[in-house]
Amino acid sequence: MPLRVTFLGTAGAIPTTERNPSAIHVAREGEELLFDAGEGTQRQMMRFGTGFSLSHLFVTHLHGDHVLGIPGLLQTMDFNDRTDPLTIVTPRGTRSRLKRLVTALENRPSFPVEYIEVGDGDVPLRAEEYEVRAFETDHETTSVGYALVEDDRKGRFDRERAEELGVPVGPKFSQLHEGESVELEDGTVIEPEQVVGEPRPGRSIVYTGDTRPTVATIEVADEPDLLIHDATFADDRADRAATTAHSTARAAGEIAARADAKRLALVHLSSRYAGYTDDHLGEAREAFDGEVWMPADGKSIEIPYPDS
Ligand SMILES: [Zn+2]
Ligand SMILES: [Zn+2]
Repeated sequence: MPLRVTFLGTAGAIPTTERNPSAIHVAREGEELLFDAGEGTQRQMMRFGTGFSLSHLFVTHLHGDHVLGIPGLLQTMDFNDRTDPLTIVTPRGTRSRLKRLVTALENRPSFPVEYIEVGDGDVPLRAEEYEVRAFETDHETTSVGYALVEDDRKGRFDRERAEELGVPVGPKFSQLHEGESVELEDGTVIEPEQVVGEPRPGRSIVYTGDTRPTVATIEVADEPDLLIHDATFADDRADRAATTAHSTARAAGEIAARADAKRLALVHLSSRYAGYTDDHLGEAREAFDGEVWMPADGKSIEIPYPDS
């Protein structure tokens, strides 16, 4: 079951020629989710081939660099005769302003758009095998982050052991794997625990949006496979990070270490650095042993299962 993350926009508040404002696309087996949609996000989706079949758009907060791409994106979806509904998830208290942004223009979407407001601990999307959780962040305005957390998967089925126990190859195998006990012809009952291993963890992705470092980011998911964290500034502007409610790359690294994350993607690079990322990377790596990147726009990664 592939889980792919594409960084569509990795710039801070002001875009650069190399980096678009914030947007992250997540594709999971035919389902597409978008997290933030800064100006020009739809062109990034075209450039990097993510497709437009989103079911949900998750907004972290109403700063322009996270939402100005929404009206254009919805207009294009409308021109493309979209009929499927779109759910836009936004922090509590921001629905009416976001809706005004979308409906202020002449081209209003003719497909259904539903708005959901969320706060810390809410689960705006519960899908068959995963959920998206909202968590509290600490920015200059009402804001949340989001975590996509997959359910545990079934344990491995020990085919050899099942055959040893005399289970005939066929439907009884899948019954056992589904957690049902089965009775053999001689009356022996085989319990699933005898042939099925421990449940295996799913994958998880945490995206902070703009924030100071917070404990909620550490607690929202257990050992996230990917943490995508605000890293607007390097150590040289740590004071700016504090006063503007952003994070340094080092602070993002410290959060990744405390969260036992496996990988850290640093995003929201301030235009002041003119694309220079060595300091960010070096400082984050001093704080965090796992994999660290400062992805360029268009970077796409496939998240493996923790046990693979
Ligand atoms: Zn921002
Ligand atoms: Zn912001």
